[in-house]
Amino acid sequence: MSDADVLTSEQIHEALDELLERRDPDATGTVLGAGSDDLEAGRRFLELLVEGGWMVPTWPARHGGRDADAAEAARIDAAMADYDVADLYPYGVGLNLVGPVLLDRGSPEQQERWLRPIADGSEVWCQMFSEPDAGSDLANAGMRAERDGDEWILNGSKVWTSRGAYARWGMCLARTDVGVAKHRGLTMFAVDMAAPGVEVRPLEQINGDKHFTEVFVSDVRVPDADRIGDLGAGWGLTVETLAHERATIGGRAFGGGDDEEVGLPSWLEAWSDAGLLDDPVARQRAMRAYAMHRVNQLTAARAAANATGDAPGPEGSGAKLRSVAAFKARAYLGKDLSGAAGMLSDVDGHLEFLTAPSMSIRGGTDEVQRNIVGERVLGLPGEPRVDKDVPFADLKKSR
Ligand SMILES: Cc1cc2nc3c(=O)[nH]c(=O)nc-3n(C[C@H](O)[C@H](O)[C@H](O)COP(=O)(O)OP(=O)(O)OC[C@H]3O[C@@H](n4cnc5c(N)ncnc54)[C@H](O)[C@@H]3O)c2cc1C
Repeated sequence: MSDADVLTSEQIHEALDELLERRDPDATGTVLGAGSDDLEAGRRFLELLVEGGWMVPTWPARHGGRDADAAEAARIDAAMADYDVADLYPYGVGLNLVGPVLLDRGSPEQQERWLRPIADGSEVWCQMFSEPDAGSDLANAGMRAERDGDEWILNGSKVWTSRGAYARWGMCLARTDVGVAKHRGLTMFAVDMAAPGVEVRPLEQINGDKHFTEVFVSDVRVPDADRIGDLGAGWGLTVETLAHERATIGGRAFGGGDDEEVGLPSWLEAWSDAGLLDDPVARQRAMRAYAMHRVNQLTAARAAANATGDAPGPEGSGAKLRSVAAFKARAYLGKDLSGAAGMLSDVDGHLEFLTAPSMSIRGGTDEVQRNIVGERVLGLPGEPRVDKDVPFADLKKSR
């Protein structure tokens, strides 16, 4: 791409004005698709943006991006905040996790086949990592993949699979070698969710989400061509995928109306207008929630301004912790402030209140993020890991 093709903020706004409506700066954003399970709005939005490569600007143009460098992508991202953007939660795994990993580690054929349908919203992906015995200790994943000629036969189960109800593909961590230590015998596959032997069972969440699932995999045949990355390289890909996930969750500053010129966020103004902040203790709690929100927002903006385009590292764990803490402070205070009316389910903030607990768990728990920050950012001594060098087959199992 020549310098002449690199767009200024003004030019980006001009181009986006042709495609999108400007956003009401005081509008409150949706919460990770909570309670809506709406696929259509996001699909229409992605279809609209894919020709210009606006949604995934750093991806190659032939895969639905526009070959932008990190600086131009940051300008596009910043500009996008001025527009009415559909809730892209259903497409999040494809756009934010699978896409970047495929660009880094996928074969040219895999990139050709999967990236464009991710960018234009025609194929949804889910993340099949967690299992009943492998959550925080994800390297304990026990789903087996055994080679049979040009195919692999997968057996096992996954749980907490968000978007499983409507995903076309699952990025699935499976064990290809039980004779080596747990981190080393894992490989990543793309599983066709419509393949014979894949059974998706719903797990309805407290906030009304119905896409959440457990997935049972019985003798499912996966072509070797759908193995992502090298044999035994699954743990490295998992770490990379999770870093993208944490950076994505952490990169969000939930809640609208908080641009420099706009002043207070809409939720704080609404509380103030309703007289809920007359009480000094409530006001103090509100300012604490606001301070957390603002620190998170400014830190996310600083990180975006310094983005190099490299894959995110352990700093994403700090971003996730800050973002989740800010979200929960606001959601819980909002419920407290609504008093007796808060017992009703149709009051403002109810969805956030019901979604808040899950934020400390999805994408890795707060405790696990703190371990990562402690060990990999601050250089503190690691936790004792007594099973690190024991072959998976010799590990004590709960079943
Ligand atoms: C809403 C939601 C969506 C999700 N979506 C997906 C998805 O799409 N795909 C997917 O694969 N998974 C998904 N998950 C699963 C999620 O990643 C796991 O729930 C999470 O990693 C925790 O694992 P666990 O539930 O097995 O809890 P456990 O690992 O059993 O943890 C239980 C408790 O022990 C603590 N703990 C565990 N180990 C340590 C340690 N070393 N130090 C300190 N404390 C520790 C934990 O912090 C936690 O409080 C989702 C979860 C939720 C809630």
